[in-house]
Amino acid sequence: MSLIVVGSMAFDAIETPFGRSDKIVGGAATYIAWSASNFTKPIQQISVVGGDFPQEELDMLVKRGVNLEGVQVKKDKKSFFWSGRYHMDMNTRDTLETQLNVLGEFEPVVPRSYQGADILMLGNLSPAVQLSVIDQMQKRPRLIVLDTMNFWMETALPDLETVLSKIDVLLVNDSEARQLSGQYSLVRAAKEIIKMGPKFLIIKKGEHGALLFHDDHVFFAPALPLEEVFDPTGAGDTFAGGFAGYLDNTKDFSFEGMKSAIIVGSAIASFCVEKFGTTRLKELSKNDIDERIQEFVDLVNFDISLVAG
Ligand code: AMP
Repeated sequence: MSLIVVGSMAFDAIETPFGRSDKIVGGAATYIAWSASNFTKPIQQISVVGGDFPQEELDMLVKRGVNLEGVQVKKDKKSFFWSGRYHMDMNTRDTLETQLNVLGEFEPVVPRSYQGADILMLGNLSPAVQLSVIDQMQKRPRLIVLDTMNFWMETALPDLETVLSKIDVLLVNDSEARQLSGQYSLVRAAKEIIKMGPKFLIIKKGEHGALLFHDDHVFFAPALPLEEVFDPTGAGDTFAGGFAGYLDNTKDFSFEGMKSAIIVGSAIASFCVEKFGTTRLKELSKNDIDERIQEFVDLVNFDISLVAG
């Protein structure tokens, strides 16, 4: 089993209506790795950090089964920094500040030991960087999963279109699916996006769950109604990590296999939002995860008798 994860490792500062964090460790690849490592090892990480990134955070990831050979450390530079403020609905947020720092000149290098991976999980980054990793793979991974965002649709659409033509699974949120396809109906949006390359499309709808599209099939995974949502940062990445990590474990890349994987992704993401940053992900046990997955099963399980008219 092996899964390559590419993405940012960063410092974040987060404000929600209920609290704020100082500079804490975040980044898409950090969340993905913590989440995926519940299901598969090793995680083969590709990222870049500055000399300010805490060594103990890197050590914790290594202990967790994350190989950091592909993580470049630029000793005299600063790590990527992002800060955001959530609105009252906790589904929408404003970016307050982005300091690219080391991410601005990131040239990923795929270590030789990572070649032959089954799954390549490309976290949200510039499409040019995502493409460079795909191009460095000597043997195409069996599954390439990609996360992206509206920013790249607005600033790097030609590169994004090239990446889309090379991947298997695309993860976007509902407004991004509409923006990319120019369609309001998510069913029509999915048809348009699937024509661009990915065979599977996952549309995330925050606290309203996620949809999986493939050919003429569609599946809906709910989000668990939670009493407290503390910090939604990284929920999308945690979802992606759970999804890709679970698939690397099962190797069932069929529509049925992906249905299970998006339930698992949703379950892990529901933990992420319960505390600031990666705190909650670091304390999870297998038992916590199993119980949460069962809650998902119970949430949508019902018997019904059809009544003839
Ligand atoms: P999510 O809440 O799942 O959309 O992801 C939030 C994480 O993405 C944060 O930890 C940020 O550090 C990271 N992030 C925010 N903007 C960018 C960007 N432009 N490129 C890479 N990572 C980013």
